[in-house]
Amino acid sequence: MGRDLPLNRTRNIGIMAHIDAGKTTLTERILYYTGKTYKMGEVHDGTAEMDWMVQEKERGITITAAATTCFWRNARINIIDTPGHVDFTVEVERSLRVLDSSIAVFDAVAGVEPQSETVWRQADKYHIPRICFINKMDRVGADFERSIDMIREKLFSEPLCLQIPILKSNDEFVGVVDILQMKGLAWDDDLGEKYEEIPIPENLLSTVETYRDKLIETLAEYDDEIMEKFIEGFPVDIESMKSAIRRVTISSKAFPVFCGSALKNKGVQPILDAIIDYLPSPRDMKPVEGHNPKISDDLLFRKPEDKDSFCALVFKISSDTYVGKLSYARIYSGNVKTGDIVLNVTTNKKERIGRILRMHANDREDVKEVFTGDIVALVGVKSVRTGDTLSDVDNPILLEKMEFPEPVISKRFEPKTKAEAEKFKSVLQRLEDEDPTFKVKYDPDTGETLIFGMGELHLEIIVDRLTREFNIHANIGKPQVTYKETITKNCRSEYKYTNNIGGVDQFGHVVIEMEPLKPGTGFIFENRLVNDEIPQIFISIIEDGLKDAMKAGVLAGYEMMDIKTSLIGGSYDQNKSVDIAYRIAANMAFKDGARRSEPSLLEPIMKLEVVSPEEYTGDIINDLNSRRARVEGIDMLKLLKVINALVPLSEVFGYATRLRSISQGRASHTLQFSHYDIVPKNIIENIVGKMTGRISTNLSS
Ligand code: GDP
Repeated sequence: MGRDLPLNRTRNIGIMAHIDAGKTTLTERILYYTGKTYKMGEVHDGTAEMDWMVQEKERGITITAAATTCFWRNARINIIDTPGHVDFTVEVERSLRVLDSSIAVFDAVAGVEPQSETVWRQADKYHIPRICFINKMDRVGADFERSIDMIREKLFSEPLCLQIPILKSNDEFVGVVDILQMKGLAWDDDLGEKYEEIPIPENLLSTVETYRDKLIETLAEYDDEIMEKFIEGFPVDIESMKSAIRRVTISSKAFPVFCGSALKNKGVQPILDAIIDYLPSPRDMKPVEGHNPKISDDLLFRKPEDKDSFCALVFKISSDTYVGKLSYARIYSGNVKTGDIVLNVTTNKKERIGRILRMHANDREDVKEVFTGDIVALVGVKSVRTGDTLSDVDNPILLEKMEFPEPVISKRFEPKTKAEAEKFKSVLQRLEDEDPTFKVKYDPDTGETLIFGMGELHLEIIVDRLTREFNIHANIGKPQVTYKETITKNCRSEYKYTNNIGGVDQFGHVVIEMEPLKPGTGFIFENRLVNDEIPQIFISIIEDGLKDAMKAGVLAGYEMMDIKTSLIGGSYDQNKSVDIAYRIAANMAFKDGARRSEPSLLEPIMKLEVVSPEEYTGDIINDLNSRRARVEGIDMLKLLKVINALVPLSEVFGYATRLRSISQGRASHTLQFSHYDIVPKNIIENIVGKMTGRISTNLSS
């Protein structure tokens, strides 16, 4: 069996937007017009096809990146759903990793909103070609030109305006002028399946001319072929313009802009055409890069071709009631069949591909074989986790790992009944497998389970899922900040461990030097022994002992970070030296050193952006000042103020409610983890002073 469609007839796209811009509605319309959904759902009544999970519907946000396949003009479009809320930025990042291109949806009234900027910048980072859809053209206050200006001014990107809206005299949005073809398109008021060509309205003729001249000028600026024609004064035909638009879009030099109203079923089909005409196929992508798992600096490449050897990246795990674990994978090269044995290069385990599923909006299809460029769900690959590489057993390649930030917030979680507690462990394991930014820790001292996530909303949604999907009811604690500890001063520390256990002497002796590192560096170990004071076999044991010590800090037991420890001396006793003695000696030397190196607490600092009408900015800033925030800048966004600040996470719990009351619901905000920073001394005492009596002595030593 061969492929059903040539590789250049595949598109892997994402749809990215600020929450509420209309991404779900647009996706749902796309699925409707491409013929895979039979009933048109609408977000406000909670039936949209992509939002499977109950709480997503209730909150109207999309949090899982499910891949859905549809067909248009004899091409396969795989849509990767990307979330719009900032708490799930890592979900966005991981879908961007496997996409070739994206549609950016904007709300024609709000224009480019703060979260659109964040997502746009992420897409820049991954060089994702984009087309823009200015949605909600039917709303009062919709402003197409302003949205275009904002793309230029706020996103610093070159818009290629391929349409302008047609409004009736009462401002009702009826269709668009296609600037390239120089014709009008009008939609009927039904489900928008039919639309007809109409003459360009008289009153728009000169505007359309201006836009068309501008389009050719912009293309000439970025594309040599058009430039030549332009300079030599030749007419620029539609076909050469289309090829040029495709080239500048794929190279991310400019971004075609369309407009419409997903809700009113207008303007969606031209977007589908544009996906095929202007966005890249997997064949247009560079070979994927990875390395040989056995020789880490040996760079390897796989071309996007069926005849190259198989490799794929698993970008999402989800659990399914019927088939169990689904591993969503992007095939970068080669092909794979059901029953094939592949290598999970990340874990070095062989796996058999049980089934391959192509997910459609309302059904799923078993396929026997998939080829380069496709995105499918695999069933039966047990050891796989998000970010793992699968490859041909004889030609392993390890693709670049996905980086997931550490969770910064936790909540105590205590199942209400014993039966629930039993079920709880396996369910949490499953959720941890699905979501790499969700972590669970069991504290044997207190018997408590702590769940960790990226923000308040992230944990709220997990708790919601536990209740609804798995029927686990629990007492839930208040959100807690995940603090870390570090040292702020260099120090030398020595520990000699001697003991006698069951008549056997034990001996280990180390001298170390500790120094604080730049934030975010983690832990570095260096062996600086010049003479072999300690035999080589004990060195990795000493390193393990130091790592053990890093796990629980000396101030309040939080994990330590950003410390370099060098082994500079020690001694050895031929008869008594054993592993455990060096491990303990290293641990004790480190702890003792940490106490004498002015230990400090580190707290997560969040990047906060508030957009508000001017009259509330004074109150908002006063409130921020009382939260230890550092206001970094205040910009104007038309009539609104944009306040950028850095603020400790502990100070912004429940901020949404507070902001709503200060601004009478008119200001909006986004919060994102920025970095860890040292907690001021007076605050440390508040945070951990009650937890441990050691705090005051440690701080003053
Ligand atoms: P998402 O958060 O980006 O997925 O946005 P949704 O698709 O959930 O849409 C948010 C809200 O805007 C819903 O109430 C939609 O019905 C509404 N909406 C979406 N598209 C349009 C549109 O074209 N015009 C208008 N007036 N409302 C829209």
